[in-house]
Amino acid sequence: MERKLKKIPKHFQEILKVASRIAARSGFKIYLVGGVVRDLILGKAIFDLDIVVEPDAIGFAQTLAQHFKTKFRRHHTFGTATVYFGKYKIDFATARKEHYPHWGALPKVSPVTLKEDLFRRDFTINAMALSLNKKDYGQIIDFYNGLTDLRKGLIRILHPDSFLEDPTRILRAIRFEQRFSFKIEKNTYNLMKEALKVGAIRFVHAHRLRDEIILILKEPQPYRYIKRLDKLTKLSFIDDRLRLNLATYQLLARVKKAITSYKKRFKKHRKLDEWLLYLAAVVINLGQERIVKFLQRFDLRKGEKIRILSIKENLKKVKRIGKKTTPYVVYQFLNPLSFEAIVFFYAYYNQKMIKKNIELFFDELAKVRLKTKGGDLSKLGIKPGTIYTRVFEKLLKAKLNKGLKTKQEELKEAAKIFQRATKKEPGL
Ligand code: ATP
Repeated sequence: MERKLKKIPKHFQEILKVASRIAARSGFKIYLVGGVVRDLILGKAIFDLDIVVEPDAIGFAQTLAQHFKTKFRRHHTFGTATVYFGKYKIDFATARKEHYPHWGALPKVSPVTLKEDLFRRDFTINAMALSLNKKDYGQIIDFYNGLTDLRKGLIRILHPDSFLEDPTRILRAIRFEQRFSFKIEKNTYNLMKEALKVGAIRFVHAHRLRDEIILILKEPQPYRYIKRLDKLTKLSFIDDRLRLNLATYQLLARVKKAITSYKKRFKKHRKLDEWLLYLAAVVINLGQERIVKFLQRFDLRKGEKIRILSIKENLKKVKRIGKKTTPYVVYQFLNPLSFEAIVFFYAYYNQKMIKKNIELFFDELAKVRLKTKGGDLSKLGIKPGTIYTRVFEKLLKAKLNKGLKTKQEELKEAAKIFQRATKKEPGL
């Protein structure tokens, strides 16, 4: 396995070696755990490390941070801490057991051995560890046959109550099944269906479902995942009335296409929260009130809620730019919207004119800024006051519609606008 450790980025490899020495010296045992180990075995790229510590992650993280003379942060969650190494960080967690007072509740936590820590995990493929201890550095620790399941491509829970204990694992099972093109093992599948039948998902805190849904929507091909999720859960945990159909899937495919071409064509524009577009595509046919309810229940961030709602609110209004119109009208309509909303509309409508106007906006209009400032107007002899707002608005309109390029052209236009205004309202 030492060979596999080479997949870990160089900057982390050095730190891990030092961490191993410090652990041996100060009486801690440390292990890489979970998804990292799975991905190392699969030969996938590693970006983040999760380390479990026996018997106390906070003490160890503190010792390590002192050694590297770097920052360390203790978290609210039981026995967890992060150590920062420049632009990188490593998360440490005390080996712990979670006890669920009732279905879907937040767990109560207590310290245990690594073996028990691994037993609380979701699936066998995620329940392996890799020793970072001196005596067996790089060895895989596999109490629950994760290696065999990984080889066979099986998603298997560790105990029969797993899905009832934490129904978000249903979403996770689908995520890993789809990501790796694995199969959900037969018994696991049956238990999952049973948990769904008794409505286990309804007992989960909505914010935990939200986190898992977002993870699904962040996968490279969310389309497939949503289809599978819909087949198994009917997505009733989002809304009882949600019904996905062929049109939804076609829309999801077009959203993906629109995002891809946005990224290729407008490299300089800001990055999209891509998952948000997929979520909008899933809920777009629900009534506005139901969307509001869902957004509140899932407790999305304010900016996320606003963006999704504005997609729903403006869906019909987009038709305004579906006919030949001026650049200024296109700008006025699109500029207040999020880029996510605009790309969504690009995907939603097939109308050539809508697409053309959106391309015009991203290509040219979005970056248009007036070169003229208040001081320039004052130099033109325009007295400061509410007139400035009017002049700037008209100037922007002229700049967009007539394609004014230089400041000189703008100033000339500003003078004309002012003259016209004073003709109408002498004394301005
Ligand atoms: P990804 O590659 O998507 O990051 P991951 O396996 O690393 O997947 P995380 O959500 O980062 O997933 O969780 C890290 C590890 O924590 C998992 O591999 C698993 O061992 C454990 N874990 C996470 N969520 C649960 C859960 N709901 N129940 C049990 N164990 C979990």
